[in-house]
Amino acid sequence: MENFIVSARKYRPDSFDTVVAQSSITTTLKNAIKNSQLAHAYLFCGPRGVGKTTCARIFAKTINCSNLSPEVEACNECESCKAFNTSRSFNIHELDAASNNSVDDIRQLIDQVRIPPQVGKYSVYIIDEVHMLSSQAFNAFLKTLEEPPKHAIFILATTEKHKIIPTILSRCQIFDFNRIGISDIAGHLEYVAKNEGVTAEKEALNIIAQKADGAMRDALSIFDQIVSFSGKDITYQDVISNLNVLDYDYYFRLVEHFVKNEVPDSLMIFDDILNHGFDGHHFINGLSSHLRNLLVCKDPVTVQLLEVSGEIKDRYKVQAASCENDFLLKALEISNECDMQYKMSQNKRLLVELAIVRIAQLTLKKK
Ligand SMILES: [Zn+2]
Repeated sequence: MENFIVSARKYRPDSFDTVVAQSSITTTLKNAIKNSQLAHAYLFCGPRGVGKTTCARIFAKTINCSNLSPEVEACNECESCKAFNTSRSFNIHELDAASNNSVDDIRQLIDQVRIPPQVGKYSVYIIDEVHMLSSQAFNAFLKTLEEPPKHAIFILATTEKHKIIPTILSRCQIFDFNRIGISDIAGHLEYVAKNEGVTAEKEALNIIAQKADGAMRDALSIFDQIVSFSGKDITYQDVISNLNVLDYDYYFRLVEHFVKNEVPDSLMIFDDILNHGFDGHHFINGLSSHLRNLLVCKDPVTVQLLEVSGEIKDRYKVQAASCENDFLLKALEISNECDMQYKMSQNKRLLVELAIVRIAQLTLKKK
């Protein structure tokens, strides 16, 4: 069998320059290295899959490189870099606090911290999911964090900053990682696809990016899943059927019927959607998103909140022009109401149908 490396690992960035969509953080880190202003403790906060541990590793590799480039990137050739690149460097220690959160685990780490590195200048300790440490473990760690040996640098990573106690926060330089935007993720997927000899429709990658909800790691594993399903040729249709995503097209057609007050046609589209195996709640959520997208298209300032690619974007703009603000607002209210009542309702299909009928009649009175 061909040796398959998952994309999330294969395309893990190994220099500051290749980290996607966190340029303000990588620039600050590079400047700190350039000006020799390293702190002893950093706290990397942000949602999962946005590059916290990756940046921590790149940082550890870069500060230990003996031959930094003028752009403050590791050389990948010195002894230390080679050790990093083959995951056998002794200058980096990773502790996953989600599974090692006891006082003993931390004591072991503290013992290790005292030993200076043999190669390179710094030993970097990455503590992932640091908010999971028990309070005793936190307290045991505090002393080391207060007076760390010269060679030790701590990088704490967390998805839940609010759970970090103030005494730790005040001792760290804090970096907030952003959710990665849909267009940035889609752009990176395009690059990966090209490298893997996969052709992919732009909108197909966009849907994967949406589904990943800001996490590059998730996007890449969905990408792998689709590739193993449909091979080297990825279409929009493949992706939506594979990920159980409702086609945009349904909603565009539905709104066309809404503005013409065509109640029966609207109901038939909903029936068609149910027949394709989607449930009513999924549908109504999608409808709310669609109406929201149309609403943001109404204003040149908010149109940038629309996270879809070129062709679909134009379709949204055209449809938005055919709807009045008032209609969109009221329709959104009705679908939102339906969403909230959905779980409680005994007759879910009727509930959604009623919402559809009401929306399809919104512009009727005016006429
Ligand atoms: Zn190097």
